Parts: sequence; C-alpha cells; structure tokens
Amino acid sequence: MAQEVTRESVHALPKAELHVHLETSLRLRRLAQELHAPSLVEPYLVSDPKRHVGYDRLRRLRYLGRAGKIPDTLYTHRNVAQITYELLREAAQDNVRYVEIRVGGRRGFALLGIRGMLEAMAEGRARAREEFGIRCGFLVTLVRERGPEHALEVAEIAASCVDCGVVGLDLAGDEENFPPALFARACEVAREAGLGITVHAGEFSGPASVWTAIYQLGARRIGHGFRAVEDPELVAYLREHRITLEVCPTSNVRLGLVPGWKEHPLRALYDAGVRVTLNSDDPLLLRTSLTWEMHCAARELNFTLDDLRTMVRYAAEGAFDARAATEALAVAAG
Ligand SMILES: [Zn+2]
Repeated sequence: MAQEVTRESVHALPKAELHVHLETSLRLRRLAQELHAPSLVEPYLVSDPKRHVGYDRLRRLRYLGRAGKIPDTLYTHRNVAQITYELLREAAQDNVRYVEIRVGGRRGFALLGIRGMLEAMAEGRARAREEFGIRCGFLVTLVRERGPEHALEVAEIAASCVDCGVVGLDLAGDEENFPPALFARACEVAREAGLGITVHAGEFSGPASVWTAIYQLGARRIGHGFRAVEDPELVAYLREHRITLEVCPTSNVRLGLVPGWKEHPLRALYDAGVRVTLNSDDPLLLRTSLTWEMHCAARELNFTLDDLRTMVRYAAEGAFDARAATEALAVAAG
C-alpha cells in the first residue's frame, strides 16, 4: 500500500503556483474590515452555483462573492500594495516559494491606471520577497467580454510594464461568445515583448478551445484545460509540446464543472504524461490553498508525494519566469 500523504508533508513541500487571481475587491473588503472602515455593506460570500449555468454561473458566483459595493476610495496605492503583500504572505505561510499573480480588475485599472496598479503590486511584492524570500511574477488578465480593442490597449500597457514585474498575459472570460481569434493581435503584442501567454480554456468549453488557444494565440500554458481529456489527439499534443495545464480542481468542483474530486480528469491527464500543475485560482473566494489542493489530490486521486513533487517541477518549468521559480525552489531545498 502506498504511504499515506499527510497534510503536514504536503505543507512542508516547497511549492510553486501559476494560477491565482488577486481577487482585488474581495481582498480590499477584507482589509477594510480589518481596519474597521465605515460604510461597507456586509460581505456575502458564495451564492449557490447550481442556480446559474455555463459561464454565467462563474460570473454570478464571482460577482456575488466580491461584488462592487466597496468604495472607490479603497483603491489606493497603499492598499493595493498591502493586499498583494498579504496574498504573498499567505502563500509563503503555505510554503509556496514562487507564485504568479494575475490581475485584470476593471475598477482598479480605471481608478489607479494599469501601470499604477502594477507599481503598487510591485511594492507589495518587494516587501514580501524581503521578509519571506518568496518570488513572484505578475500576469495581466484580458477579459474577453471587454472586447478586442480594449484587450489590445491593455496588452500594450502590460508589455511596457515588464519593469514592474509583468511576465505574462492571461486571457479570461466568456469563452463561448468571444472566440480567441479576436485577441490574436493583443497576444502577439505581448509575445513580441517577451511575455508568456496563458489562456483560460477547456474549462467551460471543450477541447476545441484549447486547440485554438494554442494555434491562434500561441498559448504555452492553459488555464484549467482539463477538458482536453476528451480529445486523445490533444492530450498527445500537449504532452509532446510540453504545454502546461494550470489545473484548479476545487474551483472546477465548486462551479459544478466536474461532479467531484474523484471524477476530476487530473489523474488521467497526469498519467498520460501531460504537464499538469495544481493551483488555487481564487483562494479567498473558494476557501482553498495550494496545500489543500495537493492534499485532496493525494487523498482522492492517489497522488504520491513524488507525484506532487513532479507537478511542482512542472510548475517551475512552465513558469514565465522559470529562472526565478527554479532558484526559489532550489533555495528552499537548501
Ligand atoms: Zn482563473
């Protein structure tokens, strides 16, 4: 019988994470509550996802979870630096040594400017590195339903913010109604600036969305991507071309995209040699962590500690700042 993987042993494992959203408004709300700021509505966390369908389900879930109703005045340089620092502190406490944080919030970008937002995040990052040694890169998220012109504008600014720590571009949002071709130019601009491309695909949509993310947008990583398992040719392609999948099982289960952990294709993809990695997606909203994801993978899908180490290696090698990720893990290994 395989040795039991304990939560402690998973916690102790130096880890890397590629898919985590800043969850700006949710973190700002928590920060404001800690500071007892007035004029906030009561937080209400997660609505019942079963009431919604398809992408709308995700949007509603997220909207209800982190909904507006926080004052614009909370979007300050100082607060954004603080919430970035807090995310990294929580990751460091979970023994995550390298993390890529993605940010795409409309209000933050509108109120502080994209560069302003990233400069504030860079400040939080510097403080976290100094205190915990954790390394981090930023991904700027393009939200599909804001349209291709907006995406191009954001991509151009992201490409000029490498000095703030931007290492990649992420495409998220409504896969069904906003096909990848609309964002080809934005991704090209980012690639030309040396940024990595990751695309949310194969989550709400099937394998075709993963194919197009790779062919039309030059994605080297896929956010979620677990529905690739439905297409054996795609599985072979992902393995041969070393495309990394950023799998977030708790997110998929909570959104009702897979019935439960035991049914999650993570195991099948891993066994097929695909570079799958584990990620927490929206840890505050979903109440998860990387240790939790890994421990569940061990318990429900029989991953061994060695398997988990392999997935951490896949994450480090798939990182858009692979050198920082590898160095951070090497330091942790002593
Ligand atoms: Zn995501």
